[in-house]
Amino acid sequence: MVSRYDIVIVGGGLAGAAFALALRDTAWRVAVIEPNPPRELQEAWDARVYAYSPGNVAWLKGLGAWDATVRSQPVYAMRIAGDDGGHLTFDALDAGLSELAFIAESRRLHYSLWQGLRTAGNIESIEAETSGVSWGTTEHELILADGRRLQAGLLVGADGAHSWLRAQANIGLTVEDYQHVGVVANFETERPHRGTAYQWFRRDGVLAYLPLPGKRLSIVWSTTPDRAEVLKALPADEFTSRVAEAGRHSLGALRLVTPPQAFPLKRRRAEAWVRPGLALIGDAAHTVHPLAGQGINLGFRDVRLLAESLRAAHLAPGDLGRLQAYALRRDEDVSSMQFVTGSLKKLFASEEALLRWLRNTGMTLTDSQAWLKQALMRHAIQ
Ligand SMILES: Cc1cc2nc3c(=O)[nH]c(=O)nc-3n(C[C@H](O)[C@H](O)[C@H](O)COP(=O)(O)OP(=O)(O)OC[C@H]3O[C@@H](n4cnc5c(N)ncnc54)[C@H](O)[C@@H]3O)c2cc1C
Repeated sequence: MVSRYDIVIVGGGLAGAAFALALRDTAWRVAVIEPNPPRELQEAWDARVYAYSPGNVAWLKGLGAWDATVRSQPVYAMRIAGDDGGHLTFDALDAGLSELAFIAESRRLHYSLWQGLRTAGNIESIEAETSGVSWGTTEHELILADGRRLQAGLLVGADGAHSWLRAQANIGLTVEDYQHVGVVANFETERPHRGTAYQWFRRDGVLAYLPLPGKRLSIVWSTTPDRAEVLKALPADEFTSRVAEAGRHSLGALRLVTPPQAFPLKRRRAEAWVRPGLALIGDAAHTVHPLAGQGINLGFRDVRLLAESLRAAHLAPGDLGRLQAYALRRDEDVSSMQFVTGSLKKLFASEEALLRWLRNTGMTLTDSQAWLKQALMRHAIQ
């Protein structure tokens, strides 16, 4: 049996689900294929906690997805320290902003996005595995593992860093192993964080403290694979005291709430974002070091632009000119973010005394330039 849609989205993670929801209330018939959709709201804290830009949060609010389900903490200030006295502080008030970012769990936002798309009249969610795809001239066919066939003018790859659809379209990938693993965990803190995020650039990597609602905190410690292995294997109390010590006891004593999980970190970039009848969004198109907290923020900016330009065009969703314009604009944003995060990671990994001096001095110098800090903040809030 063949079912016809206008747009079929492969992958219903944060990017795919948000894209589907951004197409609600259109005349298009949309399908989202996701083998593991979120089923229930969980009370336990999720170790996958991200920083979301105010621009993306405002947009998610417009979709109705950033609601009371999402337990979020605004960030009012950010304190960054180098490995040899360098320091840099960002303050929302100084830039005339109400907040610099919001910190929230991935799982709850994912659930909320799915609640929205499940109730949208023009969106069908299909819990299935994919097995094949055939590319036509204007219509393309996706074959599911249970034999169902779905036809559409546009297939959207939102199936993550190891994208199956990207591979089916023979789109290559450039990959750089950062030689870092991100260790994440949540803690309760003795002292209130007052909406401040912290980041320490250390010789063994980068440690971030992200404030969660209440006296809670999520960490991302990006470090070498060997050190990450050691950290993960430590007994809970020892791991906790390493995190407190590396964070200079800024929030007093810590208590581990969710055990550490580790994620290998790689920079990836698809060699093409679009092909006739295909567009890639989110991690399927790019991944980036989490030190700037930008991975899904870039993904949501892909979603915003693709959905807005498709909605505005009054053209068939698969119109190649429209897709190419999307690819061109998004590639710029992603390339500059990959360049900045990659360079920072390399700059702080070096043992050279001159570079150590340079990076710490550069940080402190940036701190004294109000205009530069404002420019950096204005870019980060989009
Ligand atoms: C340690 C760490 C910290 C991070 N911190 C931040 C942060 O602070 N801020 C930030 O913006 N980003 C952050 N990120 C990045 C963020 O995690 C990712 O960018 C985001 O999760 C990507 O979402 P996605 O929907 O594109 O992909 P995914 O979350 O990978 O979703 C892909 C979906 O596709 C489905 N799928 C896979 N294959 C198929 C198939 N063949 N058919 C159908 N469905 C399929 C999967 O089941 C999945 O649901 C961080 C990442 C790491 C590792």
